[in-house]
Amino acid sequence: MKSQTLPHLTKIIALTLLFSFGCAKSKSQNPLIQESAPLDNQLKKSLTKIQTGPLADDCDQKLAAKKTEIIQALDIYRADIEAKQNQEAPSADKSFVDFEGGKIEEIAITPPPTDTAKKIQTFSWDELSNQFQKIKSAPYSFKKWAYALNYAKILISEDLNRTVYYTNLTLEPSDEPALSKIIAEVAPCAIQEECGELNLTAPSTQFANQNSVYHYVLGKIKGASSRQEAHEWISNLYGKLEADYATKFKLPSNGDTTAIVNSEGITEFRLTLDLSAFSNASQNLAVRWIESVWSSDHYKLKLVLGDKQETSSLFKYFFFPNDTQRDTTYHAGEFTHEVHLFTKSSSKAFAHETGHVLGLNDHYWEFWNRDLCAYQTTLDPTDVMSDHIHGVATPGDWEELIRRYPVSAPKGGP
Ligand SMILES: [Zn+2]
Repeated sequence: MKSQTLPHLTKIIALTLLFSFGCAKSKSQNPLIQESAPLDNQLKKSLTKIQTGPLADDCDQKLAAKKTEIIQALDIYRADIEAKQNQEAPSADKSFVDFEGGKIEEIAITPPPTDTAKKIQTFSWDELSNQFQKIKSAPYSFKKWAYALNYAKILISEDLNRTVYYTNLTLEPSDEPALSKIIAEVAPCAIQEECGELNLTAPSTQFANQNSVYHYVLGKIKGASSRQEAHEWISNLYGKLEADYATKFKLPSNGDTTAIVNSEGITEFRLTLDLSAFSNASQNLAVRWIESVWSSDHYKLKLVLGDKQETSSLFKYFFFPNDTQRDTTYHAGEFTHEVHLFTKSSSKAFAHETGHVLGLNDHYWEFWNRDLCAYQTTLDPTDVMSDHIHGVATPGDWEELIRRYPVSAPKGGP
């Protein structure tokens, strides 16, 4: 298991959306691609790691004093706040059901919002600091301090991922052609043992230099003391580029999915997956949660339960009742073809993660806005692959599934 924990985020309405999102990972064993940065027991230690991280930028300098003030105060109360949070019952205004020894919030399927404008969520140390200035001199309020603690943990985790563990928060949707071009240019050298020198075109060099992670690795290649060391960094860059491309733009298709037109004229995508880690009752719930989102007048998803031991390509679903991390679907790496779901997540997260299993990417976009020193996420409230709480399966989602899984000819049927 990854050791990163962000407990009890579901209680914090304003913060819930971003971190209850599932994400899809497509990564190799490449050290640059580690995506989970553990929070240290003392937030102050994590802060030091961030400020001395190789990708720390002007923002990290600028915000250092504010961060230190908040974190020193939070470290004093952290143990008490966490202990109290662990004893708290889930809030009454949400409908939690028992699931595999943990809790899942059941969200009713409602028509998607009619306001289809994309939303932007912003998280920043400036915003937290403004709130902190108000609570630090007021009489102690558990609720406010717990909110500040959780907000700080999110920011520290993001900072660690950005400056120490190199999650790519620089790429934007319009970068697809440039990313695809640089991959083609790096590939020949990366796969050739003796190659220690990259020959990038000017546009690719410019693209790489605008991106903090790639810029950092280009510097390492340039400064390598041997051809072999340079080659290692080139392979490293190639692995990172490919993983970023897959994660952001093109998850692989699912080998256990077929499409047919059923007797009612509905196109049915049949996905075989493994839910055997769950009890029968939980399997039924999970199937209902997934199929009810992936259902429309013309298309629907039909789940077929299989056993991963017999067919290794099947995706197997796991649930962690005592841990609240970010739900994740793994296409590669240590947990290849596994879906990890966590307590206090939502029923619609099961549908979102299953979208990843089918090869759909996240349709929300997270990035680091260096001008504002803020993490921002753009969301489409209509699409379950973007805002899974409010969204449903959109015509665009179905179109992509049809492209990936063409309907096979019926066997002697009408
Ligand atoms: Zn996701």
